[in-house]
Formats: sequence, C-alpha cells, structure tokens
Amino acid sequence: MQFGYSDLCLEHDPGRRHPESPDRLRAIREGLKRQHGVEYVDADPIDLDAVRELHDPDYVEELQSFCEDGGGEWDPDTVVVHGTWDAILKSAGLARWAAERVMAGDDGRDTPFSIGRPPGHHAVADDAMGFCFVNNAGIAAQTALEAGADRVAILDWDVHHGNGTQDLFYDRDDVFFASIHEEGIYPGTGDSNETGTGAGAGATLNVPMPPGAGDAAYGLAIESLVRPALERVEPDCFLISAGFDAHRHDPISRMSVSTEGYGWLATLARSIADDVGAGLGFVLEGGYGLDVLAESVRTVHEVCDGYQPVEPDEEPSEAVRSRIDAIATAHQAVRGD
Ligand code: ZN
Repeated sequence: MQFGYSDLCLEHDPGRRHPESPDRLRAIREGLKRQHGVEYVDADPIDLDAVRELHDPDYVEELQSFCEDGGGEWDPDTVVVHGTWDAILKSAGLARWAAERVMAGDDGRDTPFSIGRPPGHHAVADDAMGFCFVNNAGIAAQTALEAGADRVAILDWDVHHGNGTQDLFYDRDDVFFASIHEEGIYPGTGDSNETGTGAGAGATLNVPMPPGAGDAAYGLAIESLVRPALERVEPDCFLISAGFDAHRHDPISRMSVSTEGYGWLATLARSIADDVGAGLGFVLEGGYGLDVLAESVRTVHEVCDGYQPVEPDEEPSEAVRSRIDAIATAHQAVRGD
C-alpha cells in the first residue's frame, strides 16, 4: 500500500491535551514498521485555487489571515498554531495525491492511503470546525472529477457525521456521499432524513447508529445500503473517509468496531469497488486511541496487501436491522423507485 505522508503534517500541534495530536501519525508509522509492502509518498501542498473551488473564497482568505496572524482558537476545538497553515495545505495535497493515484489506475495492491492531518470531514464550505479546516475528502473528490471521473462516491466511516463533506456536495449528483456514524454525538447532524437536495436528491445517505454498534452492524450497513447505492451510482472513484474512532477502545466514542473489523470493512469496500469498477482510495479522518488507531490502519494495509480478515462472528441487533431496513425504504422513496 502507498501512504501519502509528510513530516509537515506533524507541525500542526494543537497542544498536549488535544486529542488530534501529531502523535497519531507517529503511532501509525510506528505500527507500519516491518510491514511488507509499505511505501511512503510525499505530495505537493494543495494550491489555493483548488481550495477556493471547494470552499468559499472569503473563508479561505479569512483562514489564511488567521493563520498568518499567529492563530489561536478558531473555536475551542479547532486550534491554529505556527505550522498549521502549512499542514492544512499539505494534508489537502496528500488527499489530492490519493485521488490522482486512484484515477491513474490501481492494481489492487497499490491502493493509496493519504495519512495527512489536520483531518477534513467537518470542514464545511465556509467554516472550520471539529479539528478540520480544509475538507480533504472533498479535495480528493474534486480532483477525481477533474481527472475524468463522471461520478465519485465517498464512504465516511468515522464515528462522527461527515457534515462538512455532506455540505459541500449536498445539491450535486456527481459526488455520492454516505456516512455511518454514532447518533447523538458531535456535530449533531447526519439524520437519516438528510438525503440531498435538488440535483443531489438521493445522493446523500446517512446511517446514524446506536451506541455500541460494532463490526456486524457496520458490515450490514455497507452491504445493505452502500453497496446497492454504489451499484446504482456506478462511481469511477470510491473514497473512504477513514476515521478509526468507532473502535471499541477509542477514548471518545461508545461504538465497538474491532481492529479486525476495520479490516473487514476494508474488504467490503474493496469488493464493492471491484464490483462497480471503481478505483479505491483512503483518506485519514479521526481516531484518537493511538494504539488501536495504529493497529487499525495496519489491518487496512494488510487487507490491501492480500490478507483475508475474519468475518464478524456476532449478528447485528434487531434494532440495527430494522433501522437499516427503514433507511433503505426511505431512500427508495426519495429516488421514486
Ligand atoms: Zn471522528
């Protein structure tokens, strides 16, 4: 697996007590040591024109000035320090690299995984929030479209709703966005009735999960909702907004995905990508338990290197099953089929 990585992404250090720390990337790299087939690739920082294409130009200017004036708290969670601006541009540049790799063709063993930070999926068109400034997955989707993709699909399996990515593409039909997340936590959006608007009606799929949902629930949501959606959308590029904070040992969520479970989810993503003829790429989002973050990324790498993970041995709860059925029915109604 090729990992998009730069030391510049360590320079964004919002402080010792902040969970979104540069130690996250150090832990991932430590976990990938001695792994077969790991290659690191650097990329150019994103150019501001590309950022302005996705985000409100006034916001981009305000963010740049805020960073250049020494930074501080954009909001209590979202902190700018010396080095943040360069890390933002590099993180987005690495996401662009991942999409370019996907669109250049991929033999399955060469799947790109951009491990930039700060993360991106909470960054909306005109604001930073939730540790995120520029929407990296959005940049990747935009890049894929410019590289010739007719349609792009994003699956966001971070434990938090990818409100920023949803916001960027909510009224568009060329980027399909699906998010599986814990209900009732930050940022509070991602209800299943948020399904897109205008040309984008039906192109947003939200799967809020009850606390405690684990490998089987995530697997069922992907197989029962994401797979049929992608079979219909037929994307050329399938991006995973890959947060690992739904892990059972992550300190900030109550979900129970296992390390092996992330391998299982990656297997499902690979299978769907192959079945619909899309290239597959990963963009890092959250994940705050350093050990389990590193183990989970390593498991995704191993899967892309040919390892077959163990299937979940438990069954999804009845509550999860009926919720997924209801979301499937509601989406059929939105699409009118
Ligand atoms: Zn998250």
